[in-house]
Amino acid sequence: MSRRCARRARRLRTVVLTAVVAILVVLGGGCGGSVPRQHDVDAALKAASAALVAHDVTAWGRALPTEGTSARRAARQIYAGLTGFKWRSISAEAVAVDGVAGRYLVTFRGEHPGSGVTHDVCRRVLDFATRKGVLTLVGDHTAAARRADYCLAFSHPVVMVRKHLILIGDRGQQWLMKIFAATDGQGRRVVIRLHLNPKLFWVTHRTIVYVCRTAAQASRVAGGKPDTGDGAFAGRGAVCAFARSAFHWRHDAARVMRHELTHVYASGIGEGRHTVGLLVEGLAVVAEGRHSYARLRSELAHGNRVLPLEKTLAQEDVWSGRTHRQVVLAYEEGGALVLYIEKRWSMKRLWKFAAAVADSNLKPVGIEQATGRTLGITWDQLYAGWKEYVRTLR
Ligand SMILES: [Zn+2]
Repeated sequence: MSRRCARRARRLRTVVLTAVVAILVVLGGGCGGSVPRQHDVDAALKAASAALVAHDVTAWGRALPTEGTSARRAARQIYAGLTGFKWRSISAEAVAVDGVAGRYLVTFRGEHPGSGVTHDVCRRVLDFATRKGVLTLVGDHTAAARRADYCLAFSHPVVMVRKHLILIGDRGQQWLMKIFAATDGQGRRVVIRLHLNPKLFWVTHRTIVYVCRTAAQASRVAGGKPDTGDGAFAGRGAVCAFARSAFHWRHDAARVMRHELTHVYASGIGEGRHTVGLLVEGLAVVAEGRHSYARLRSELAHGNRVLPLEKTLAQEDVWSGRTHRQVVLAYEEGGALVLYIEKRWSMKRLWKFAAAVADSNLKPVGIEQATGRTLGITWDQLYAGWKEYVRTLR
């Protein structure tokens, strides 16, 4: 059940990378030789990216000549890792690392044919120098644990393309990829259920589904997302599923995909000044379909003391510091709140309410104002109505 929203994953990724770069800057020395200009690094990476798309190892070597063992290893790993896939396009961005001349945080972004979306596919901290007028890769200062992140997390990649999904996994995992490939139609159910505009999702975009053997592999695919142990999570334009049993996935893949595709399709709902985690997850729970609210009914019968609704609504993160039981309860609270607002008002009004709460200060007065402005009642009235409604749920 540990499915975390895209924004949180992105934030964590940024923190991890900043920390990696900071540590490396402290430890690292200069790379010696004459210092290259940003313009030259950009030009070399542009040629290198074109070589990756063309699967042209000669052009790759010409674009990025290397000096020294670590540079050669990095060039070999990036080329081998990324040419395991076909690409519509690849680009690279190099951001100079403060304090070390010639050192750059390099992010390759790629578009799988038919996906319509560009993803981070490889990220390294690389040292460049100019040798006899030629830009040369002279070192790799990426932390060892982060060298096989993003697409390099797959050692023998297999790609399956369906109408709405692109599934990526390692050879030997095709059985699991096929289970997810069979969920291809589930996105339509999400679109219909949430009243989304199909044009935004079905015409140009296929969602990428990374199918991983282990949670550790999934963590690498997400660029160092902390290991959460089980399940699935979603990021921008992509779903990552991992490390559950064959039995589990055969029975649960479609429901999990409805949940995660909601995070992909409805990313932005409940996000403004703040992220309203309860509504982000609540919406995904509703899109799953039939759901039990037994735990929530029991919580309300005991006075809603474990996770008081107003307090949970005001928290950006519904997972941190919570037990699995409490997270499940939070998901049920969110699901029931979404269902109640949809039933009494409409899904459109729910989006407005979510936006108003996200843009509020998340204090009781802010939530009161957001409720009044978008639903036309007080928070106490909303809470009382919601509690009544929960009694009717199974
Ligand atoms: Zn979720």
